[in-house]
Amino acid sequence: MTATPFQTMTSIPMRKKLIAGNWKMNKTSADAVLLVKDIDAASPKDQNVEVVICPPFTALESVARALEGSAVKLGAQNMHPEPSGAYTGEISAAMLRALFASYVILGHSERRMYFKETDAFINQKVLAAFKSQLKPILCVGETLQEREAGVTLKVIQTQVERGLQGVARDIATSAVVAYEPVWAIGTGKVATTAQAQEVHAFIRGLLTNLFGEAIAQKIRILYGGSMKPANAPELLAQTDIDGGLIGGASLEARSFLELINAAAAVK
Ligand code: PEP
Repeated sequence: MTATPFQTMTSIPMRKKLIAGNWKMNKTSADAVLLVKDIDAASPKDQNVEVVICPPFTALESVARALEGSAVKLGAQNMHPEPSGAYTGEISAAMLRALFASYVILGHSERRMYFKETDAFINQKVLAAFKSQLKPILCVGETLQEREAGVTLKVIQTQVERGLQGVARDIATSAVVAYEPVWAIGTGKVATTAQAQEVHAFIRGLLTNLFGEAIAQKIRILYGGSMKPANAPELLAQTDIDGGLIGGASLEARSFLELINAAAAVK
């Protein structure tokens, strides 16, 4: 039987939901293995959600081994843009690839805030990640002060456009953008679904201007900022919210699994 165009459209979703756990500076290598094994064992096997775990650098190798043969993917939390050299304490894209990482979080607000990372520096990292076949998860988001001053969309536009400058169209679909309002990260304050969807739709528009409609429709835009099992179903049901970047709730198997299941349940 040949599929009608309608069947094709309904059976192949445009964007697979993505749930990524950012463990930040938590978990020793041994603790990381215990947690990832629990997550992997209970993750749904039907694969309609992509799951990525981003442990600290020191746990990448042990987690990679624990995930051998699993559909759960590995990501890093940061990297340096240079391929090698005198950058004490830093890690290159090639080093991450050698440990089987396939994603890397770049431009997280904690990197911007505590380590003074600029859009230009983050852009160098994005380009270097692509060069090594790592998929960047580019984080953008406004501070509370910026939201109250009414400049949220301007801030987001600058961060998205500068962060993705020079990214070629043919690889852009591998990019992931995470909208993370800084005032919602680790604070328990979550953006309302309307606030989040407004910014996600705006980001989709920016991606359309940069890469064209067809490509922009394929790029995943994640929400991050106190996403929890209680608020996830409503957030994840929004048209332009394609998953979550999860901090606190990814440090415990049960809550992280509930978020994966919430993403899997979205039709
Ligand atoms: C994050 O740091 O990316 C994050 C979203 O943290 P939390 O879920 O704890 O707000």
